[in-house]
Amino acid sequence: MNKKQKKARIAQIVEALKSIYPDPKCALEYNGDPWKLLVLGRLSAQCTDARVNQIAPALFARYPTAKDMAKAELPELEAYIKSCGLYKTKAKNLKDASALLVEKYDGVLPDNIEELLLFPGVGRKIANLLLGDIFNKPAIVTDTHCIRICGRFGMYPTTEKNPYKIERILSDLIIPAEQSDFCHRIVLFGREYCMARSPRCGECPIRQLCNYYESQLKTKQTQAKKEKYESN
Ligand code: SF4
Repeated sequence: MNKKQKKARIAQIVEALKSIYPDPKCALEYNGDPWKLLVLGRLSAQCTDARVNQIAPALFARYPTAKDMAKAELPELEAYIKSCGLYKTKAKNLKDASALLVEKYDGVLPDNIEELLLFPGVGRKIANLLLGDIFNKPAIVTDTHCIRICGRFGMYPTTEKNPYKIERILSDLIIPAEQSDFCHRIVLFGREYCMARSPRCGECPIRQLCNYYESQLKTKQTQAKKEKYESN
């Protein structure tokens, strides 16, 4: 498949996901506050979005603004986020990132990846989430769902393990205006059909566009032929 054919196939996947999930939203409940999305994004590392959303109301009741979090006592902040894991590092990152936001940016997040990456605890995944969701810029969030599912679709070589390289490949293949919503849709799709361990391929509405499904089908057909041959 040449690049043009690949892009056409990916456009079909993008459209199919659009019809399945016409109104995708960020899985993290940040109520339109950019700083809260940064906080929740950081907490979601090696944790589920559901868990992060669960602790968010109490956390933001105690620390309603970046200014409040910048002044937090670390042991207290740690207690609020403990169930999200890696809580000592995360608490320090959140306090330092909030302080940077207040002191250098007067509470307003910058709208470019270079500066977003300067915030403690913010890697490309969170920075792209912020760019797409807050600033409506093209951005691919290479989280675990995106890496797994796009790999199964054959959007990038599965030998590629570097999230940054995967991000670059996908950025080139998915039209910029669709990138941010595509990533939200992939999260929803990963929860409903394309789970990590047991994807529901038989019920998947876009299995005809999936490399993984095609290869599984071929394996089953070869196996069936072999069994038939051996039983004769
Ligand atoms: S066919 Fe299976 S592996 Fe492919 S996208 Fe659908 S659920 Fe995922």
